[in-house]
Amino acid sequence: MASGKIGVSTKDLFPIIKKFLYSDHDIFLREIVSNAVDACQKLKVLSTGSDFKGELGDLRVSVSLDKDNKTLTVSDNGIGMTAEEVDKYINQIAFSGAEEFLEKHKNDGTTIIGHFGMGFYSAFMVSDKVEIVSRSYKEGAKAVRWSCTGDPEYTLEETEKEGRGTDVIMHISEDEKEFLEKSRVENLLNKYCKFLPIPVVFGKKTEWKDGKEQETAEDNQINDTTPAWTRKPADLKEEDYSSFYRKLYPMSEDPLFHIHLNVDYPFTLTGILYFPRIKANIDPNRNKIQLYCNQVFVTDSVEGIVPDFLTLLHGVIDSPDIPLNVSRSYLQSDSNVKKISSHITKKVADRLEEIFKTERENYEKKWDDLKIFVEYGMLTDDKFAERCDKFALLKNVDGKYFTFEEYKKLIEPAQTDKDGNLIYLYATDKSTQYTFIENAKAKGYDVLLMDGHLDTPFMNQKEQKWEKSRFTRVDADVIDKLIVKDDAPQLTLTTNEKSDLEEVFRSQAPTGDTKQSYTVSVEALGEDQLPVIVTQNEWMRRMKEMSALQGGPMSFYGEMPDTFNLVVNANHPLVDKVFRSMSADVRTSVDPIRSDIERLEARRDELNKAKQGKKEEDIPQADKDELDQVSRDIDDKRSQRTKILSDFAKNNAVVSQLIDLALLSNNMLKGADLTNFIKRSISLIK
Ligand code: ADP
Repeated sequence: MASGKIGVSTKDLFPIIKKFLYSDHDIFLREIVSNAVDACQKLKVLSTGSDFKGELGDLRVSVSLDKDNKTLTVSDNGIGMTAEEVDKYINQIAFSGAEEFLEKHKNDGTTIIGHFGMGFYSAFMVSDKVEIVSRSYKEGAKAVRWSCTGDPEYTLEETEKEGRGTDVIMHISEDEKEFLEKSRVENLLNKYCKFLPIPVVFGKKTEWKDGKEQETAEDNQINDTTPAWTRKPADLKEEDYSSFYRKLYPMSEDPLFHIHLNVDYPFTLTGILYFPRIKANIDPNRNKIQLYCNQVFVTDSVEGIVPDFLTLLHGVIDSPDIPLNVSRSYLQSDSNVKKISSHITKKVADRLEEIFKTERENYEKKWDDLKIFVEYGMLTDDKFAERCDKFALLKNVDGKYFTFEEYKKLIEPAQTDKDGNLIYLYATDKSTQYTFIENAKAKGYDVLLMDGHLDTPFMNQKEQKWEKSRFTRVDADVIDKLIVKDDAPQLTLTTNEKSDLEEVFRSQAPTGDTKQSYTVSVEALGEDQLPVIVTQNEWMRRMKEMSALQGGPMSFYGEMPDTFNLVVNANHPLVDKVFRSMSADVRTSVDPIRSDIERLEARRDELNKAKQGKKEEDIPQADKDELDQVSRDIDDKRSQRTKILSDFAKNNAVVSQLIDLALLSNNMLKGADLTNFIKRSISLIK
């Protein structure tokens, strides 16, 4: 029996293992099982050459629990180790056995699991004592038992062992006894070992019999050794891709499309990515892309390895070229990772373009589900955005789909304004914006449907990219102002008449809700247009939407009230009637007040002018007093005017009725206002 100390350089290793890796101590099982799989793979490689002539048999790894002895054992019938090898690979841990092996067999195209850092020693995260019982494949090799209790002292002795291979026996410590629970171990195996290339068996399959769970004779194999991504696309049918998807995410709806990745230069990467159906609310606990390294599960947080928008995809990426045990920030600057990331982006764009080109109808059918993903990509990745120009779609309110180019061609003739800007009209809600949509259509315009979660930032981006192009929601203004043409109708009212009529309508505009504010403007619209229309300024509304989406510095806009514009159509017969009646009723009382206001304002301006450049003490007191008086008089007169006009408006049911109808057609008339409207309407029916 030999005993000794594990290599000097490692005397501080155990505390490090226990302390720093503590947060992720689950991975010990992955490490030990990977080593076992690795040992089987190595033997497979040797058997293809002249080094190993024996019977390979069914290579497999088996994991077993012994609750009485508090051990968890991982056994394999792989390559095994001689005493010298245990000494070399286990005792002198600074020495990497795998590297030496790979060096020797680098032309074999082997699939040997790479380096996971702590490897074998991670077993000490959960064990008081670890034993290795191993017998090398080499002819006449003696079995050895290595044993170590977690301090650098170990023993190494000859022992008996039937057959070739290695048992790693972990004596689970009291603190970690969860790893003696069958369900815990099974969960770990399912997480890390589900797609390992050598069968991994954990006990027997169970079934329900006579009201209880009973073991059957069948081995409980954890893994699928040839998962879809390791096979050739030509050998796979559509159904194989869907069933693999279900294996990864048992509870999910079927995906839209898949992409089979297969790269071997300048890095090695395989995998299958799926486009899922993404709902408007992106679920942070959503299914994630799983990252593997030669079929060993590494992580499902791929942020930094794939671009942000691709984290919305599902599926598997397998690459031995991604450094696994380094920090995220390092990962992001790693040149291999960067290459991988841009390669995946390119592949995703290629695939979308291909489906668009070859199956446009099918692609259009799926567009509504794909859209959020493509828009997210366009917003966050410039290269992807460029590619998208070929296959991103716009959908109009009639459910027709267009590429950017097709749409531009479609609307250019009718929707270019007098300054040469192309106006993309859109609606966000087909039912509440119905009237506006119909108006636009009647003018020969086309209206897009932009009801997606990311449509507002998308439009902002396109306005910056596309020259002389603007997006305007159909209710942002009256139809003639949405797209201003040279032949826009002119207002025939005088400035004073216009301002009086505006005051009449302003006095009856809703005031109750502090989250909304209204401005009023009288405009010349077509006679066939509604008498009063509620519009909402595009820019303010979009700022608010962006602030809702992003928060942060933009949240200032979120606090502002919604500002609506009541547009009064001076050309509508009903408004004209109100105007005439207003003129008849109040002209004689309002006109003299207005003259007074004009006179007072002129005097105020004179007094202000005289003050200019003078020091406060040099201004005569009489002037100061007069200025105060004039300002008060102006306020008085203004209120008089407002009162006369609003009294008129109050007694003219048509004014309120027209405003309410406008609000109603925007679905904005609610509560008491709605009740009043109904009562008024009934009383008007005579
Ligand atoms: P790594 O696997 O990264 O080289 P480990 O600490 O996990 O590091 O293992 C060290 C070495 O011990 C391995 O390279 C291998 O040569 C040997 N080894 C570990 N487990 C086994 C096993 N089950 N069978 C054969 N050799 C093993």
